[in-house]
Amino acid sequence: MRLIILGAPGSGKGSQCKWITRDYDVPHISTGDILRKNIADGTELGMEAKSYMDKGALVPDELVVNILKARISEPDCKEKGFLLDGFPRTIAQAQTLDAFLTAEGVSIDKVINLEVPDEEIMSRAINRRTCENPDCKEIYNLRDNPPKVEGVCDKCGSKLFQRKDDNEETVKNRLEVYHAQTEPLIAYYSEKGLVATVIGQERLEDTIALVKEILK
Ligand code: AMP
Repeated sequence: MRLIILGAPGSGKGSQCKWITRDYDVPHISTGDILRKNIADGTELGMEAKSYMDKGALVPDELVVNILKARISEPDCKEKGFLLDGFPRTIAQAQTLDAFLTAEGVSIDKVINLEVPDEEIMSRAINRRTCENPDCKEIYNLRDNPPKVEGVCDKCGSKLFQRKDDNEETVKNRLEVYHAQTEPLIAYYSEKGLVATVIGQERLEDTIALVKEILK
């Protein structure tokens, strides 16, 4: 299965990806996670990406496209497909992906479009905390899904952290970038008949149920 999940930053794509990846045994590919790992490892790519990410701007297409192509060329993706989260983010990225997949003789099966109002995204983002353990990455929300012990992951006991780009100004920038550059992808993939829109619900389980219906 080859899936794309679209949605503004903070719309809950990551939470949906966690269960889809588990239930459908499909690799979850988040370009944001790959870039953050490069920053943590101090790679040249990470250093270059960091200045854009800290501001909430998009990292230049050529940097992201290359890491994405390399990742989906790995054996697990060849065998099982993939779930793309945070890619593509521009029409140019989508066109490059299409050309790459066509050359490989495969195509996208479905695009899930997760819709959440900007005000809700802002409130969620500034309250979001993420487990620092790369094997866990559990996501909490101090407002409606806080951890039992402040700053500690319920699941694995690792420390929780607030992503550097989850502050009000950066989130505002990221939403503007989303509307200007990424939202046009909904029309792009709708023309191909691939889009299923899900309205993000207050309770995570309710949104999961809606996405499950789509993937049936
Ligand atoms: P995310 O974790 O998907 O919200 O991504 C965090 C940040 O990484 C974004 O705000 C961008 O700066 C950068 N990023 C992730 N994916 C892409 C992409 N496909 N194109 C450009 N920049 C990206």
